[in-house]
Amino acid sequence: MFGFLQKNRTGDDTVFHVHTFRCHHAEHVPDEAYVKEARRLGAGDIWFTDHAPFPGDPFGARMAYEELEEYLETLSELKRRYQDIRIHIGLETEYFPLFDAAGYYAHLRSLPEIEMLLLGQHMAQTSDAPTYSFSESKDYLAANEYKLLGQAIVQGIGSGYFDAVAHPDRIFRRCEGWDADMAAVSREIIEAAVKADLPLEMNICSAEWSGYAMPQFWELVPETARRLVGYDAHTLYELRSRHRDMFMLLETLDPAVCRVSGKIGRGELQRRLLRETTL
Ligand SMILES: [Zn+2]
Ligand SMILES: [Zn+2]
Repeated sequence: MFGFLQKNRTGDDTVFHVHTFRCHHAEHVPDEAYVKEARRLGAGDIWFTDHAPFPGDPFGARMAYEELEEYLETLSELKRRYQDIRIHIGLETEYFPLFDAAGYYAHLRSLPEIEMLLLGQHMAQTSDAPTYSFSESKDYLAANEYKLLGQAIVQGIGSGYFDAVAHPDRIFRRCEGWDADMAAVSREIIEAAVKADLPLEMNICSAEWSGYAMPQFWELVPETARRLVGYDAHTLYELRSRHRDMFMLLETLDPAVCRVSGKIGRGELQRRLLRETTL
């Protein structure tokens, strides 16, 4: 079921979670530049997961709906041209019940080029009007955003359309400190992911930003859960620097994960977190 990580002869590392210029907040370079950079770093796999568009283009910071075909075509062409690195095509997307009811996630899953959907809940649907969390006041979001996003993540996992959960601890970005309610929402997400056998992404971009990564969340994640390391690269520099600093950044999320960091490579770490090999 999990094709995230395929052993290969050309490189051991997996570069997972790369964005492209189409989302309007990433470096304006061709997709091929990320492929070349990943090869240069010795990666055997690179996963593109740009922000998915929605029909009618109701949201910003992502490709237009009409660009989706070109995204899939361009990456498919790169796949054919590069035989010495495995290029994978995915999309990072929020879960919205209305788009589920309209069959949109089923449609995305029916496209043969798409290998994975990554559940990245940056906002949540708040009514069938429809309204979304970004329309709420700052004060309201400070107290409630993580609950709305957490609930949407649990629903998204339950929908069965997703293969992994991006930066689950980022839902707490507006919170100060840590309390029992935050722990309860964390447990709901973790339990849903474990039940569905979906990996939770340790996002090393989050680790670079104060308040985006929550070690308290990772403390609650049991040994039985699958994890995955995501670069969330929006520039070539981020791909390079996060590759270089991966272990150091991961330690800020969960020191326990990196106890053996000096002895294993990034590829081996990814395999262990995904439980592709026995520990
Ligand atoms: Zn982005
Ligand atoms: Zn994201």
